[in-house]
Amino acid sequence: MAELAPYAVGEHNTRGRAVREEAPFGRSEFQRDRDRIIHSTAFRRLEYKTQVFVNHEGDLFRTRLTHSMEVAQIARSIARHLKLNEDLVEAIALAHDLGHTPFGHAGQDALNACMKDHGGFEHNLQSLRVVDMLEERYAAFDGLNLCFETREGILKHCAPESAAGLGAVGERFITRQRPSLEAQIANLADEIAYNNHDVDDGLRSGLITLEQIASLRLFSRHLDAVRQTYPNLGERRLINETIRRMINTLVTDLIQQTEQNIRAQGIQNLAGVRSAPPLAAFSAEVREQSRELKAFLHTQLYRHYHVMRMNTKAHRIIGDLFHVFMDDCRLLPPQYQRQTRDERPRAVADYIAGMTDRYAIREHRRIFAVEED
Ligand code: MG
Repeated sequence: MAELAPYAVGEHNTRGRAVREEAPFGRSEFQRDRDRIIHSTAFRRLEYKTQVFVNHEGDLFRTRLTHSMEVAQIARSIARHLKLNEDLVEAIALAHDLGHTPFGHAGQDALNACMKDHGGFEHNLQSLRVVDMLEERYAAFDGLNLCFETREGILKHCAPESAAGLGAVGERFITRQRPSLEAQIANLADEIAYNNHDVDDGLRSGLITLEQIASLRLFSRHLDAVRQTYPNLGERRLINETIRRMINTLVTDLIQQTEQNIRAQGIQNLAGVRSAPPLAAFSAEVREQSRELKAFLHTQLYRHYHVMRMNTKAHRIIGDLFHVFMDDCRLLPPQYQRQTRDERPRAVADYIAGMTDRYAIREHRRIFAVEED
């Protein structure tokens, strides 16, 4: 890896792993984290989990897996430019959605509602639970035993009351400190990725139209420029070229504004990153345009009746499964049948959160359908 900036996370300033291990051979500690994430079961499940469109709705829509890969790609480009730890941002990006339920945000909301008297459900906390506890791959420890900085990057946000029970990785939510720049970059790369691919998927699905989105400044300024240079371009290429330029604008703006913030705050080391205000940021103008795009997607795509219908089904499936397992734990696979009644809600939530879209649909059918499969 190229030389790191003095405020980057590296082998010299990592807080290390909960369980001590020998240093890896031929790769860095953060490459090892990335490798463990890629080999995990939860990572493979991302292929069949909804981003916005349910897996069976079309082959070309993003899934959580391709979304995570796009986040990793964008985050690495930014990290490399800023001389930050590329391996760490990659690990965070690939792991950031491991705790997502089936059926995207509708699934998360449904499971959170089911868990409201049992500590709630939050996909960020669940991602941490997956890498800290739920993966069963290593003889010496539960979970993946990842480095502190990878874990803190996965835990993007957290209510102070939950943070208290999380040990070192929860401290910053109580002391109001910032995570590493690598974590901050991975977080904004997530936003760049989904804003752009949701425009692409939204247009491809026909749920939003080019005319509608042409009113948004971030999109229209690139659309107009492409049309001017290539007046006869087919629609698919017009959209792709516009989105490509939009991603480039966001990435470039983020790099420049972040560099400026690091300079303005006189950041010298990782401790400085943690105590400064958030350093990774868009310029005010791009932030406003990005917010406009997000608001548009929210009302026009995420609340589109077609998406809402699927959301309703997701609520029904997750609610039904949760309640049937709570009523009779003998219906659960043996490894989820806990001894005490107190532990049952979390075990059921872990089981449901781990399901892919199609597994949840099948499981629901297996339990509730009267007719043969
Ligand atoms: Mg994401």
